[in-house]
Amino acid sequence: MPFIVTCDVEDWLQAYTQKGFITRRCVDNVKKTLDFFDRLSIKSTFFVQGMVAEQYPEVVKQIFNRGHDVQTHGFTHRPLHKLSPQAFREDLARSKITIEQICGCKVSGFRAPAFSIDGVTKWALDILVELGFEFDSSIFPMKLRRYGTNRLQLKPHLIQCRNGAIAEFPITIGRIGPFRIPVGGGGYIRFLPRSILRHFWEKANEHVAVIYLHPYEFSPHDFKGWEKEVSLFLRIQQTYGRPGIENKMDRLLSGKTCRTMISFLEQIRNEAFYNRK
Ligand SMILES: [Zn+2]
Repeated sequence: MPFIVTCDVEDWLQAYTQKGFITRRCVDNVKKTLDFFDRLSIKSTFFVQGMVAEQYPEVVKQIFNRGHDVQTHGFTHRPLHKLSPQAFREDLARSKITIEQICGCKVSGFRAPAFSIDGVTKWALDILVELGFEFDSSIFPMKLRRYGTNRLQLKPHLIQCRNGAIAEFPITIGRIGPFRIPVGGGGYIRFLPRSILRHFWEKANEHVAVIYLHPYEFSPHDFKGWEKEVSLFLRIQQTYGRPGIENKMDRLLSGKTCRTMISFLEQIRNEAFYNRK
C-alpha cells in the first residue's frame, strides 16, 4: 500500500508561544521541504496554519502549484482545549477561507494543532462536518501526556457525526502485544532508529502508513536567535536528530509510493460501505 506523508506548516516559536508573527524562516523551511519531496517524487498533504497563509500567501500557492494537497491546520494554532466551540468554529472558518482564496481550491481536511481532538474535544468533529470538511487527521491513536486516546481504531475509517460522516486518518502507531508505540512523526522520527521506524511503518502499511513532519524539522539551526525565548532543554529536545532527518526520511521513503489523503477518501468510504454489509 502507499504511504501518506503529511506536513504541518507553522512557525515553531509562534506556534509554541502563541505570540508574535510568523517569521521568514518558516517560508525557507517550506521551500526546503518542497525540494526534498520533489527529489523523492512525494506528493504530500500539507496542513497549513492560516496565519502562515495570510502572511505568506506566495508560499501556500507554491505548495499547491507543485502538486500537493493543501488543507488547514487552524488559523492561530491554539489547541482545541483552549477554545470554546464557537471560537474554534471562527478560527477554522477563517483559516479555510484564507487558504481557499489563495489556492482557488476547496479546503476539506483538517489537522488540529497538537493533535488536540480527543474524548473531551470531540465536539469539534460535528463542527468540521457542518463547515463542509470531509476528512480529519487530528486524533492521535495513543494516550500520551499532552494528547491522544487509546480508543481509536488504527486504520483510516469513517466517524459518524451529528450531520454526517467524516473520514479520520489516524497517525501510524507501532504495536507490541497490547501496547501502542508512537512512531509516526515529528520527534518520534528524530529520536527512534531507522530500523524500528521501518519495521512499524511497513507493518502499518498493510493498510496505509500515515506519517507527519514539520518543515522546521529540516532546519537544524531554527533556534538561532531564539536562545533567550526557549530553554536549553527544550532546544535540545526539539533539535535532536534534525541534522539527519533528511537522510533518514530519504532512506525510509525512497522508492515508496506516496499519495495524498484526498486521493484516499473514496477508498475509505467504499471500505466503510462494504464493512457495513
Ligand atoms: Zn502544529
